[in-house]
Amino acid sequence: MRASLRNFAVLFLLALVLFLTGQNGFFLGVDNTFKEWRFSGHQVPASGQLVFVDIDARSLQEIGQWPWPRTIYADVLDKLIENDAADVAFDIDFSNTSTAENDLAFANALERAGGFTYLAALQQLGFNTNGDPILITNKPLDIFYAHSDLALVNVEPDKDGQVWMFSKYGIVDGDIVPSLPTIFAPKEHEKNNNSYFIDFSIDLGSIDRISIIDLLNGQVDRTRIEGKKVVIGASSLDLGDTLDVPHYGRIPGPLVQLMAAETRLQGRELQQINVLAPWFLIVPLIFFVARFRRIRFLPLAFLLGGFSVGVEFFAFILQSQFCQIIDVFWVHLSALSVFIYMQFYAMDMQKILVRQVSGQNVRMQTILDRIISDNFDGVVIIDSSRKILAASAPAEKMLSMRDHLVGASCGVLPERLFQEVNQAFADAATRVVPIIAPIYVLNKDENGDPSLVIEYSVTVSSVSRVDGQRSKGATEYVACLTFRDITHRHNHQKRMDFLANHDPLTGAFTRSRLEEELGNFVTSEDGGENGLTVVLLDLDRFKNVNETLGHAAGDGVLIEVANRLAQSGLYSVARLGADRFAGAYPGVMSTIEISKLLEKIIANVTEPYALDGHRALIGVSIGATDTENSGFSPNVLISQADMALSEAKEIPGNSFFLFKCELNDRIHERQRVEMALLDAVGHDQLYLQYQPQVDLADGECVGAEALVRWLHPELGRVSPDRFISVAEDSGMIIEIGRWVLVKACIDAMAWPKPYKVAVNVSAVQFEYGDVVGAIRHALEVSGLPVERLDIEITESVFVTKQDRFIQTLDEIVDMGVGVALDDFGTGYSSLSYLSRLPVDKVKIDQSFVRNLPDDEQSMAIVQSVLSLSSAMNKTVVAEGIETADQAWVLRLAGCGIGQGYLFGRPQSNEEFCRYLERADIPDFLNKSSA
Ligand code: C2E
Ligand code: MG
Ligand code: MG
Repeated sequence: MRASLRNFAVLFLLALVLFLTGQNGFFLGVDNTFKEWRFSGHQVPASGQLVFVDIDARSLQEIGQWPWPRTIYADVLDKLIENDAADVAFDIDFSNTSTAENDLAFANALERAGGFTYLAALQQLGFNTNGDPILITNKPLDIFYAHSDLALVNVEPDKDGQVWMFSKYGIVDGDIVPSLPTIFAPKEHEKNNNSYFIDFSIDLGSIDRISIIDLLNGQVDRTRIEGKKVVIGASSLDLGDTLDVPHYGRIPGPLVQLMAAETRLQGRELQQINVLAPWFLIVPLIFFVARFRRIRFLPLAFLLGGFSVGVEFFAFILQSQFCQIIDVFWVHLSALSVFIYMQFYAMDMQKILVRQVSGQNVRMQTILDRIISDNFDGVVIIDSSRKILAASAPAEKMLSMRDHLVGASCGVLPERLFQEVNQAFADAATRVVPIIAPIYVLNKDENGDPSLVIEYSVTVSSVSRVDGQRSKGATEYVACLTFRDITHRHNHQKRMDFLANHDPLTGAFTRSRLEEELGNFVTSEDGGENGLTVVLLDLDRFKNVNETLGHAAGDGVLIEVANRLAQSGLYSVARLGADRFAGAYPGVMSTIEISKLLEKIIANVTEPYALDGHRALIGVSIGATDTENSGFSPNVLISQADMALSEAKEIPGNSFFLFKCELNDRIHERQRVEMALLDAVGHDQLYLQYQPQVDLADGECVGAEALVRWLHPELGRVSPDRFISVAEDSGMIIEIGRWVLVKACIDAMAWPKPYKVAVNVSAVQFEYGDVVGAIRHALEVSGLPVERLDIEITESVFVTKQDRFIQTLDEIVDMGVGVALDDFGTGYSSLSYLSRLPVDKVKIDQSFVRNLPDDEQSMAIVQSVLSLSSAMNKTVVAEGIETADQAWVLRLAGCGIGQGYLFGRPQSNEEFCRYLERADIPDFLNKSSA
């Protein structure tokens, strides 16, 4: 806005200066020329009322002498009167006397004309004898003046020497005398001003000219004179009465009078319009231009040219149609100066802009150079001629091209990047940069491992030229190649990928990767399915290695196992748990073939391991299944191999087990039992039975073992062999165990004598439950004296976390509760460690009792248990005594207590109470006595 105001002020001043200059007449000549052009552009025919009777060269020649005798003028006047001319004016100097006779003749003619004649009076500037300017008036002689009127024929050339204007009146001897044109074109209402512009657009040639000689000779048609106003004067150049006028140049003085008279007759007196009028045009113009100062060269030229033409046209119309004269040259000059000024202004602005833009460019360039060179990433800028324009320091470092990149061809880039840049230029118009940058291994070390990995992207952009214009025609592009060193991230990612699929210790696959591998094996290329055998292995005694030789040795064994499995021909060896492995054999095999392979694995894995001077021996159990049995789902294959493994583990020593469909049935059965068991506790489906335990010496009952029973509405009686293991696996045994303890203690309180009650406690209760708390709770709730309670545990309690459980047992023993080791001889038991266990009773498993007394091996075992136990001061209970022989033999061998159908089956508490009432001595005592 400020610039607009300034421009307006400047342009206004310019126009004002030009206006004032014009007012001082500086442009008079040009303005006059314009006026003349306008005259020539519009011709007006003469009215036809005026006639010029011409003293032309021919008349001079034919009459012969000069000055003419005044009789000739008398004749001319007579002729005109004769032809009924309306008015006659002589533009001839009659101020001097000629001959008296001739003067009289002319005076008489004037008299005859009867007062319709006018004689010229001319006023001119002259100088007196002192040299002072004086007005000299040439009047006709009085003799002529008496019969006619005066007509002023003064002419006043303008500064340019041309006659433009005419006066209406003059003052002669104190009287107002009209000029000749005023006389010939009288008006009722004259305007105030005395002078007016002659309209030179009136066609001079259309004013009728009659040569005097033709008139005198009677050769002029009467109609040319009749009723006309006639001016008689000289046109012959020889007489020198000529004047400079606009448009026509030099013309005879009488014709100037006639032109002036015609002008009046036609009402075409020209008036100078108000000099301020053009401001109404020029002010809006400069306002517009100043306001919209950014108009370009051509539009501005057209605007101002159009303005000038318009102004000139306007002036022309004013002059030709409305008889108004206007000087507009200063207006044209103003338009021109507006144009020139605006051009300078624009150039100046352009220069400033260019300077600003180039300044900005330099600044931007510096910033960009800085950004690129200091960039953390590799940045390389390439133009469309494939020249490298800029490069960051990391780019040069990563590409090992310090100081060689800038200015070089992009062919120096590694082939892959070079191709990408070329492709980017080829796709410039449509290119979309992918969100994920591609990864490329730039360098490898001597092992062929990646030593420099980059991720990169290439973008292309169209660029502007320095002048800020977008390049037209062929678009110019630059490519920006950005890349960064992701070696560390890449290696980390590779490691993560590896860990996701591999066991970090052995390098074997993980379970998910194994499933993937199995999926690949079973899917054949033609879309069909391939046969496959899946093998699961569980190491035995591996814990011993860890505990005795340390974890490093254990790790060594695991690594070696994985290797041996692979060497045995097992594919996709995977580690599924601490000491659990798996693998597969692709292809369909017979059971015999599978068995052979598994035996080979067992042989390999159980070979002794040499560890830092130590030897370790481990065992293995293997479960396997194949697609024939388990179908093609990797998941199912693995889980059924797992079932088979569970079976294999039940088999003592190194063994394998091939999955059978019955296993599945068993699993389903277990699941059914497990579901039903969930309800059992809350719905009173569980109850207890008591089996008596008697002193083998006298057959006296000393107590009873509480045995849990389950009566399910649909399943019927479910034996503990079926549901106890399920309860253990699901953890429900903890809740069941607490209930059994409480119930047994309460029942025992109702017995008629203070016998002992023995309650079975599972290893799971030791590991996951609070056994001590449960016992304490049962004793509290029932009020049973602590010495009446025994708990029976199996050796499985000591398989894991031996020390912790022994501690727990110590607590129980310290409370005063008796502890019996149940099913002795079936598990891992070794007589040697029996001494370390805080148990006061050992229950010989019924499998040894069953074959007594005939089986010598059983007898030997029973005897050794009995002798060792007595040495350790532990009471021995024999389970499963069904016959009097068995009881008798055991009694002889020194077994203290017996339990079995011989003495009583498990029975309800009421039955047991009744049983206690009986006092008959059992059979075996009689036998012994026999
Ligand atoms: P166990 O503790 O060894 O119990 C003795 C088992 O031998 C009982 O089987 C009993 O009925 C049976 N039995 C006793 N005398 C004879 C006989 O002369 N001949 C034969 N053939 N069998 C005899 P049951 O009741 O089926 O219990 C099986 C196992 O279930 C028990 O073996 C015990 O380990 C477990 N069990 C029973 N009740 C409980 C309990 O409340 N808690 C826990 N944790 N386990 C229990
Ligand atoms: Mg028992
Ligand atoms: Mg038992």
